Amino acid sequence: MKLEYEDMQIILLGSPGAGKGTQARILCDHYHLMQISTGDMLRAAVAAHTPLGESVKKIIEEGKLVPDDVMIELVKHRIAESDCQRGFLLDGFPRTLVQVNALRDAGIKIDHVINIHVDDNEIVKRISGRLIHPASGRVYHQYYQPPQKANRDDETGDPLIQRPDDEEATVRKRLGIHHAQTEPLLKYYKQWAKSGSPDAPQFNEISGVGSVEEVQARLRAILDTQMMKEICY
Ligand code: AMP
Repeated sequence: MKLEYEDMQIILLGSPGAGKGTQARILCDHYHLMQISTGDMLRAAVAAHTPLGESVKKIIEEGKLVPDDVMIELVKHRIAESDCQRGFLLDGFPRTLVQVNALRDAGIKIDHVINIHVDDNEIVKRISGRLIHPASGRVYHQYYQPPQKANRDDETGDPLIQRPDDEEATVRKRLGIHHAQTEPLLKYYKQWAKSGSPDAPQFNEISGVGSVEEVQARLRAILDTQMMKEICY
């Protein structure tokens, strides 16, 4: 049976460092969805020194959340673009209940909300070991994927850096913010899904522990099963 993956709208939730970005990229390739990563959009704005970038640079470096009104405008505009009309995946948005309600109020239909769960201590180990080659965006890891030569990019030999918001103290702060502001979203989406309301997205949680392929398989099992149901009914 041929599966039609068109027009699927997904929200991927999870702590910073749970692997959302990596999984989102693979899912979007597979299902031909547009990936909307608010963290990447903001970092691009900072790198390009746009007015938005200048206004959010310090907030991001300190691991705090950018104000809701700024984020809501950014995401609404992005979703309205033509390349999102055949489906998209939100990675990093919504992060607060105000952002959840803004999506609902704007009538933006979401089919699936999936939370990727990873314990805090594992997250700290993952993020604080991350090393970046700024010019290419290549990512390494002190323990899991070390460069051939310590702290040097494999291809260019340039020094690698740690993103300021990847330092351990900042990671712990981001996790604290996540628990306080983003975890209520899980409860919200869980209850909405249970309510049986026709506009409620499906809600699922998976473990983010394991290899990239294992986590990807868990996500696909949910999305493919859902697709099969939709086709069969
Ligand atoms: P991320 O790469 O998703 O961890 O995002 C990096 C940083 O961008 C976060 O720590 C926040 O400062 C900011 N950010 C990204 N998405 C949002 C959002 N939906 N609401 C508020 N701040 C955000």
